[in-house]
Amino acid sequence: MLGIIRRHLGWKLFLSYLIVIVVGVVVLATAAEFAAPSAFDRHLAAMQQMMGGSMMMGTDLFVSFRGALREALILAAGAAFLAAVVASLFITRQVVTPIQAMMRASRRIAEGHYDERVQVPGDLATDELDELARLALSFNQMAAKLEHVEAMRRQLIGDVAHELRTPLTTIQGTAEGLLDGVLPPEPETFHRIYREADRLQRLVSDLQELSRVEAGAYTLARRPVAVRALVDTVAERLGHQLEDKQIRLERDVPAALPPVMADEGRIGQVLLNLVGNALQYTPPGGTVRIAARHDGDTVAISVSDTGIGIPAKHLPHLFTRFYRVDKSRSRAGGGSGIGLTIARHLVEAHGGTLRAESAGPGQGSTFTLTLPFAPPSSPIL
Ligand code: ADP
Repeated sequence: MLGIIRRHLGWKLFLSYLIVIVVGVVVLATAAEFAAPSAFDRHLAAMQQMMGGSMMMGTDLFVSFRGALREALILAAGAAFLAAVVASLFITRQVVTPIQAMMRASRRIAEGHYDERVQVPGDLATDELDELARLALSFNQMAAKLEHVEAMRRQLIGDVAHELRTPLTTIQGTAEGLLDGVLPPEPETFHRIYREADRLQRLVSDLQELSRVEAGAYTLARRPVAVRALVDTVAERLGHQLEDKQIRLERDVPAALPPVMADEGRIGQVLLNLVGNALQYTPPGGTVRIAARHDGDTVAISVSDTGIGIPAKHLPHLFTRFYRVDKSRSRAGGGSGIGLTIARHLVEAHGGTLRAESAGPGQGSTFTLTLPFAPPSSPIL
C-alpha cells in the first residue's frame, strides 16, 4: 500500500485531503467533548434566569445535544470523505493525466521518435496558461529542438561522408593505377595523391574547428583592437598570393575609427577567410577592397571584390556548413564550404553580425562584418 501511495500522485493527493478531514473531525470532536459541557451549562443557566427560574432537565438535554452533535459530526465526516474522493479524482485527472502524457512522450523520444509532442490548450495565450500547460509547452519546445539537432546530426554525418568520399576515391584510384602499372610512377602521380591527402587533412582540421566553435568550446580574449592593425596584418599575410594572382588590394580604414572589442586572433582569422575567398573567386586583374566605417554603435568592416559574384538564390545559404555555390570550383581551390560557417559563429560570439551581398554573377561580392566598439576608456592594442 505504501509503495502504491509513493508511486501515485493521485493517491498522495487523496491522502492529503483525508489527513485534513481527520484533523478537522478530531479537533471538532475534542472541542465538543471538553468545551461543550461547560459552555452548555453556562448558556442553560442564562436561559433559566431569563425564564424566571423555572426548572429544566439540564443533564437530559445535554445528553441529547451531545448525541445530535455526534450524529452531525459523523454525517459531516462522511460528506467530507466523499468530497475528498471526488476532488482527488478530479484533480488527479487535471494534474496527473498531462504528466502521464509527458512521461509517455519522453519515453517515445528516448526511443528515437523525435516527432512526439504533447497536447497544449491551443486557445489560450502563453501568459494565460497554468504551470502544467506551460510545462507542456516547454516540453514541446525541447522536443522540437531535439528533433532539429538530430536532423542536423544526420545531415552532418551524410555531408562528412560525402566530403570524405571524393578525395579518398581519388587516392584509392591513383594508388590502384600505380599498383596495376596503369599509371606511371611519376612525380605528377604522387603529387595527385599528396594533393588529395592534403585536402583531407584540411577538411579534418576545418571539421575540428567547426565542432569547437559550434560547441562554444573556446575562449575569447576580447580587448580593444585597432581595425587598421587588423587589416594590415591580413594584407601582409596574403600579400604574396595577391601579387601572384595580380589582384590589387585597396584599404580604406579611417585613422579616427574607434577601436573594436575583439579577440584579435579570431577576428584576424575571419578577415583572413573573407579576403582569402575574395582572392580565390576573383580572376587576375581584379580588385579586393577592405573598408571600415562607423555604423551606429558598431564598426562595419567590408571585404568587396570584383570577382565572379554570387547568384541571389545562394546568398541566404552561404553560411550553412558545406554549402558551396559551385562545388567543383570551390573544391578545386581546396574549399570545404565550412569557412563562412565558422566565420559567422566567431563574429556572432563577439556580439556582431556577418552578411553577404552580391549584385549577381560577374558583379563581385561584398561580405560585411560588424563589431561593437570598445569602451572609450580602454587602452588600444
Ligand atoms: P569554401 O571553403 O568553399 O570557400 P566558404 O564557407 O568560405 O567555403 O564559402 C562558401 C561558398 O561561398 C564558397 O564555396 C563560394 O561558392 C561562395 N563564396 C564565398 N566567398 C565568395 C566570394 N568572395 N565570391 C564568390 N563566391 C564566394
